[in-house]
Amino acid sequence: MPYRLYDLKKHNSGLLDLLTEHLPDMLWVKDLNGKYLYVNKAICDGLLMANDTKEPLGKDDVFFALRERKKHSDKPNWHTFGELCFNSDQVVIDNDKAMKFEEYGNVKGKLLHLEVYKAPFYDENGKTIGTVGTGRDITQLKNIQSNLEKSLEVLKIQSEQLEFQANHDALTSLPNRVLFIDRLNQSIKISKRDKNSIAVLFIDLDNFKEINDSLGHHVGDQILIEVSKRMHSKMRLSDTLSRFGGDEFAIILNQIDDNDNIANIIVNGMKSFKEPFIIEEHTLHVSMSVGISIYPYDSADANELLKHADAAMYKAKHSGKNRYSFYNEDMTKEASKKVYIETELHKAFKNDELLVYYQPQVDAIEDKIIGMEALVRWEHPDMGFIYPDEFIPLAENMGLIVELDKIVIKKAIEQFQLWYKMGLNPGKLSLNLSIKHLEEEGFIKYIKSLVSDKSFFTKLEFEITETQVMRNPTQSINILKDIHDLGISVAIDDFGTGYSSLAYLKRLPINKLKIDKSFIDNIPNNPEDSAIAKTIIDLCRSLSLDVIAEGVEKEEQKEFLLNNKCHKIQGYLYSKPISSQDMEILLNTKNNS
Ligand code: C2E
Ligand code: CA
Ligand code: CA
Repeated sequence: MPYRLYDLKKHNSGLLDLLTEHLPDMLWVKDLNGKYLYVNKAICDGLLMANDTKEPLGKDDVFFALRERKKHSDKPNWHTFGELCFNSDQVVIDNDKAMKFEEYGNVKGKLLHLEVYKAPFYDENGKTIGTVGTGRDITQLKNIQSNLEKSLEVLKIQSEQLEFQANHDALTSLPNRVLFIDRLNQSIKISKRDKNSIAVLFIDLDNFKEINDSLGHHVGDQILIEVSKRMHSKMRLSDTLSRFGGDEFAIILNQIDDNDNIANIIVNGMKSFKEPFIIEEHTLHVSMSVGISIYPYDSADANELLKHADAAMYKAKHSGKNRYSFYNEDMTKEASKKVYIETELHKAFKNDELLVYYQPQVDAIEDKIIGMEALVRWEHPDMGFIYPDEFIPLAENMGLIVELDKIVIKKAIEQFQLWYKMGLNPGKLSLNLSIKHLEEEGFIKYIKSLVSDKSFFTKLEFEITETQVMRNPTQSINILKDIHDLGISVAIDDFGTGYSSLAYLKRLPINKLKIDKSFIDNIPNNPEDSAIAKTIIDLCRSLSLDVIAEGVEKEEQKEFLLNNKCHKIQGYLYSKPISSQDMEILLNTKNNS
């Protein structure tokens, strides 16, 4: 219903005054020039700063705007309310209809936000003679709304961060397994359409655990970051590099045309690992084992491709590390065997399925047993005899190696003390240990608890691999010194395969070097290996260290060693590792004859 001046006059009774006076909403009537014809108390108090409802009559918003501006002349950029109002009055008149606006401006030094309704106002003949309006203070509402918007923005950022965290590895910021599978599914879709292949690479760093254990997690973490950078630099933008946690990485290579191409990419990638990593004061050599599965030949399913690549990686690791291997079906069987072995290993401890075998170490001149190496065997009720190469790496990964070694040590020491009591003279007992064991506080205590007489320490020898000792030689010196002081000998196992520094070798409290089987295998025919073996023997002589050759199988190898003054020998030529019963017989015949 249009408003008429006539209506206003007619109804401007006491009741209407009372009503408009007490309404919290602002009410006004203006003529065509924007001059106030009527105002209620709310607009006088809240907007116009007028003393009473008479004062604004005949004045326009510009007047009040200027007055407001003068009061706050220190804020020249202020936009006052009145400056806006005039325009919206015109819009209503031009459109000749009631309209809603949101208007804001500064009043009493504060920003005021109004929700305004305006409508044209007619005379008795229906001619537009002004506007009527109502205004409601929605400042608080607006503030809440803007706070809400800000909170939503923060929430959005947080949820983006959360989503990133859910899909990425915290250490390297690389995609994690979840995102990897997602991307692989995408790649499979595209490859299906474009009819090309994808290679899935499963990568595991070799000996990373040793770095972590010997140098600490912070060094391990830095290695992982550097490794991921180096890998990334070798990849195309379209490929995905992901870290699954620990030292496991995976890669999607898209649009692969043939296996040679993949092999080239991998060989190139591996070459970039020839350069050592320099982390703090450590120079570290890191290599990796890589397994590869191919879409669509090995599978069309993302999870299965990954599983196959994992199985292939396991194969690469077991064929000697620092190499790659393509998936084939036999590997699935091996992989499930691995899972089976893992579950069975827990039971092995409980059911006492671990045995210790002994391999004699012989003085080849005297033809006498001078000691023996304790080597663990697992006699499984269904799988039969299992060799350590199959379960030691699993035990290490499962955190069971300390417990396993404790069992071996206990059995071997008890056996040895018994043999001594029996007068069998078995010589020295060599135990395979990781340097991590020696760092454990309770470890020496444990050994002491097994030994009835302290003089037995001189009958013990700990074998620690060269790689482990050289990872952190200064730390090793301290640890080995304590062992040495007890009278226990220390031998460096697999010598020649690590990166020994002569300077450290001289300072290490060690007694013996064990020439690795890989050099013995090819003597005397291979001149390089023969030269290495000879050099190690000479080195021992100049450092006053004992030397033993392991893996001696042939008479000619023994001859070569004897000619070069290494007469301590361990290998199939004399005996394979044998049970304690067989060893007892051997000791009886050989050492007591
Ligand atoms: P290792 O310490 O280098 O032990 C020598 C390995 O070479 C043994 O294999 C032994 O049977 C084998 N070997 C000795 N002479 C010859 C030979 O003339 N020809 C050939 N072909 N092989 C020979 P095994 O018993 O299978 O042990 C493999 C590895 O498992 C060991 O290598 C050692 O690193 C680890 N290991 C064995 N027992 C234990 C244990 O109780 N605790 C720990 N932590 N590791 C163990
Ligand atoms: Ca050994
Ligand atoms: Ca060895």
